[in-house]
Amino acid sequence: MPDFPDNDYTQRFIFEESDVRGELVALERSYAGVLAKHDYPEPVAQLLGELLAAAALLVGTLKFDGLLVLQASSSGPVSLLMVECSSDREIRGIARYDAEQITPDAGLRDLMPDGTLTLTVDPRQGKRYQGVVALDGVDLSESLTSYFALSEQLQTRFWLNADGTRARGLLLQQLPADRLTDPEDRAASWQHVTTLASTLTAEELLSLDNETVLHRLFNEDAVRMFDIQPLQFRCSCSRERSGNALVSLGLEDAQQLVIEHNGSIEIDCQFCNQRYLFDATDVAQLFSGGGVDSPSDTRH
Ligand SMILES: [Zn+2]
Repeated sequence: MPDFPDNDYTQRFIFEESDVRGELVALERSYAGVLAKHDYPEPVAQLLGELLAAAALLVGTLKFDGLLVLQASSSGPVSLLMVECSSDREIRGIARYDAEQITPDAGLRDLMPDGTLTLTVDPRQGKRYQGVVALDGVDLSESLTSYFALSEQLQTRFWLNADGTRARGLLLQQLPADRLTDPEDRAASWQHVTTLASTLTAEELLSLDNETVLHRLFNEDAVRMFDIQPLQFRCSCSRERSGNALVSLGLEDAQQLVIEHNGSIEIDCQFCNQRYLFDATDVAQLFSGGGVDSPSDTRH
């Protein structure tokens, strides 16, 4: 359990008189954890925060047991944003960028022109699912909203903001028709809640608590809030996984790498910068099926 679960959580709500559900996310410690080992320029840290918020919202929305990956890539100044969130609610993320090309006020279209957004759901059991959409919205919220417009029958909208300290998001999604069966009523209620949600400013979303946000937006609608569900930053890298990557190279190539790198191979986790070292003895042991000894994990 995280020390302060109140800082990092999602919270669901439903509208009691229409077929719409919602979810809010707030990330602070986990966002700091993702940013800690990297010196991201502000616009990159903002985009990464928005993608973290989106992944956290999606993990609560898509019912699955496994890993959700959101990946945005482009040939522009930011070549990659990647966020992983597990159904155990552990999140990590990374950005790759060319610092020289990044200006302080750059938006998504400047940073990732002609980009694509890929959503992957990798369940522990069953088939992996992947969907791709052009990253052509003015921001990540709009791009994700169009992803769902293309792939889901139920309308879904996102509002995402991050400022380098807090990452926040709001999601609204239609539920199958139940309370409102008349199509016109249904469309009108969706229009009503999304129009109201769109009045929320980035500053409000970033600074107000959930209850205040919902009251400010929907004070004329009956909204029921559920318990918060904590999330935390955790990198899933391990010495064992790095060792497996070496095994997949084959013995000869792994031995060759040891020689080329003066006696030990360094494998750095791209997410958290943890370094795993493998010398000739480790490599021999890996290929003999003996696995890896964990005490040598942090030989910096
Ligand atoms: Zn790691």
